[in-house]
Amino acid sequence: MRSYATLLMILCYILCTEKLYTACRLLYSDCVMVDDSGTVASTKKTQPIVLAIHGGAGTIRRGSMTPEREAEYRHALAEALNTGYAVLKRGGTALDAVSAAVVVLEDSPLFNAGRGAVLTADGTVELDAAIMDGKTLKAGAVASVRGIKNPVLLARKVMEHTPHVMLVGLGAQRFAREQGVQIVHDKYFITKSQRRELERMQRDNKPSDNKPNSKQSMDEFPRPSSRGQVQPDTVQIGKTRAYYRKIRSGMLRSVYIEERQHNQKFGTVGAVALDMFGNLAAATSTGGMANKRYGRVGDAPIIGAGTYANNATCAVSATGHGEYFIRNVVAHDIAALVEYKGLPLQRAASEVVMRKLVECGGVGGVIAVDALGTIAMPFNSEGMYRGYINADGQMYVGIYRDGE
Ligand code: ASP
Repeated sequence: MRSYATLLMILCYILCTEKLYTACRLLYSDCVMVDDSGTVASTKKTQPIVLAIHGGAGTIRRGSMTPEREAEYRHALAEALNTGYAVLKRGGTALDAVSAAVVVLEDSPLFNAGRGAVLTADGTVELDAAIMDGKTLKAGAVASVRGIKNPVLLARKVMEHTPHVMLVGLGAQRFAREQGVQIVHDKYFITKSQRRELERMQRDNKPSDNKPNSKQSMDEFPRPSSRGQVQPDTVQIGKTRAYYRKIRSGMLRSVYIEERQHNQKFGTVGAVALDMFGNLAAATSTGGMANKRYGRVGDAPIIGAGTYANNATCAVSATGHGEYFIRNVVAHDIAALVEYKGLPLQRAASEVVMRKLVECGGVGGVIAVDALGTIAMPFNSEGMYRGYINADGQMYVGIYRDGE
């Protein structure tokens, strides 16, 4: 049986009949299960397929969400999961699955990517996206592009049809036209709620460029309560009295100011997947930070910061305050902890998101999956839109910190 499947596979590959080839690969992976000594141990398929997605992290509180709104988010996340998972189930690649899931989220006005993306300080939409193949370590990214309906698809074209990793701005748009990628009018992206959000931020004078607001006095800094917790309207998870002592003494002043200024949703979208061939992939797409300065690029399209995939370790997609994710090279740092320190994925992801990022004031989270199908989704913000379909085919969708 196994040799027939192999023979058929080679034949189909030679004949370039892609569908037949995929069918034979399915047959092959159903037949073959080789143990360490090289003997066929079973004829049952055991390679897990897994998909995880996020729709952004940030200040997402149950109290500020109507049941209808919450249902819309859950529905959109489930739709993205079902779409990506269907690709994996019919023998598609992890790359195809993450592309498909991210396209659904880009097309939804609920998230900060594609339609519904946040606005720049000039009221325009500038999009960033990246995709990475864990098998080949090939990657594609675009940054500061305008009018591209699905930036993740353009990033994939960069990966597959150029010798480069990243194209930006006008060059990327020219490439999009050459590749026949769908281009839409700016109006397509701009939603009422993002326009209102920009107006609110500009009214409140909330720059998104890390400039501390000099009017803020040290007296506004939080005082820890006797139990080491901070006062209600302030942040944060895992912060100790020592941390807030440092803030009050000025050592972490800028960090605190930024936390106050960026008490916002990040809303980027992303997906990571493991396919039936044991390959990993990651993709991330975003409008960046609301009210951002001209030309600002976040972590999402930076390989190793917001997006990374390597079959030998894991696939990671991040969401949060991009500058911190770039400085901490978050996605690759998680992979490095798995590779060099031998940490299990969940510990590696948690070490970076819940300790390293928290210590420097970086708000956000990641989704990650490894070649065994392990899923990790730590976040240090109030909430993170997220979901997965695990190796047992069970779907989970969550929004808040309590797991729901
Ligand atoms: N990480 C994104 C950025 O900084 C923002 C987000 O996650 O929504 O561009």
